[in-house]
Amino acid sequence: QVIFRDYVTGFLSESDLLINSTTVNLKVPAGSMTALVKNLYLSCDPYMRNRMRKPDPSSPATALSFIPGKPISGFGVSKVVDSGHPDYKEGDLLWGAVGWEEYSVITPIPNLHFKIHHTDVPLSHYTGLLGMPGMTAYAGFYEICSPKKGETVFVSAASGAVGQLVGQFAKLMGCYVVGSAGSKEKVDLLKNKFGFDDAFNYKEESDLNAALKRCFPVGIDIYFENVGGPMLDAVILNMRPHGRIAACGMISQYNLQIPEAVYNLWLITYKRICIQGFNTIDYLHKYSEFLEFVLPYLREGKITYVEDVADGLESAPAALVGLFHGKNVGKQLVVVSRD
Ligand code: NDP
Repeated sequence: QVIFRDYVTGFLSESDLLINSTTVNLKVPAGSMTALVKNLYLSCDPYMRNRMRKPDPSSPATALSFIPGKPISGFGVSKVVDSGHPDYKEGDLLWGAVGWEEYSVITPIPNLHFKIHHTDVPLSHYTGLLGMPGMTAYAGFYEICSPKKGETVFVSAASGAVGQLVGQFAKLMGCYVVGSAGSKEKVDLLKNKFGFDDAFNYKEESDLNAALKRCFPVGIDIYFENVGGPMLDAVILNMRPHGRIAACGMISQYNLQIPEAVYNLWLITYKRICIQGFNTIDYLHKYSEFLEFVLPYLREGKITYVEDVADGLESAPAALVGLFHGKNVGKQLVVVSRD
């Protein structure tokens, strides 16, 4: 198990998470409506850092804070080992909320646990492309951004789990798409593998406003926001009138004790910009619609997906911490077991 040591202030470090061994009963009581699952893949997601904050009634981000001394939890891909639930039987594969541990006892919840029916595609994709991050890209881009052919789209953290998909969805829509990422390797991926029209390494730009002006001489219609902070400030300067911003996440702020100010926010009034936050949890009821949409593209090779795979539960703390330093190239996941 990966145990949560205590509430975290400042940057998450590996020592905030402890590896613990315990014994598990490989049976669950008949009729208990629970299932014992063996976890195969765990998904490393930035929002998990926000669940490490001390509960604070004034902050909705802390409503689901982890409990010190207990295993952390997140999304994963699992196999049923024993079941006391009529809809689940031994050998069934599913993705959804599980503990960060080798085995979890779950109470399957509709729209939080999904049976996996398509196994002709990599099972690990259910942590990313075919799981929560995929739904995030789908709902965020199509529902929040209301894209139109020919519009200009900017994606930050563009090579990550969500960003690489948003860029590809935008290209399928016929948009002009630019992404930012934190290394040359990632910028090359954006341009050469995911088909972005252009990309830049934000760490090498001394002036983000100038970098965006270079890439978007006529301005940005849609910004898919993954990072916040100085990038959001620079983007607002470059948004076109009536532009849309999907506030998916602001990872640059998650480890800061005092969030950074966004100085240009006042311009959204003059530019008539619509900025909307969203939570994928509110869209998971559309998962089967999403699968019908995305699976043909995946099977035909029209959508591709890059994963960064860490081996073994012991590697999970480092993999999770790595998200906040840009160590992951593509979707970060942990293989707990391959069968
Ligand atoms: P990624 O796979 O993109 O991993 C995180 C990446 O963020 C890192 O690789 C790094 O890439 C970048 N990053 C880390 N720290 C900073 C920083 N200080 N400034 C700028 N970039 C930074 O993660 P996801 O695709 O899973 O998530 C992307 C965003 O979407 C996050 O903000 C996340 O919270 C949000 N999200 C929101 C959901 C919702 O329901 N609203 C659901 C899922 C995700 P680089 O090398 O490019 O810096």
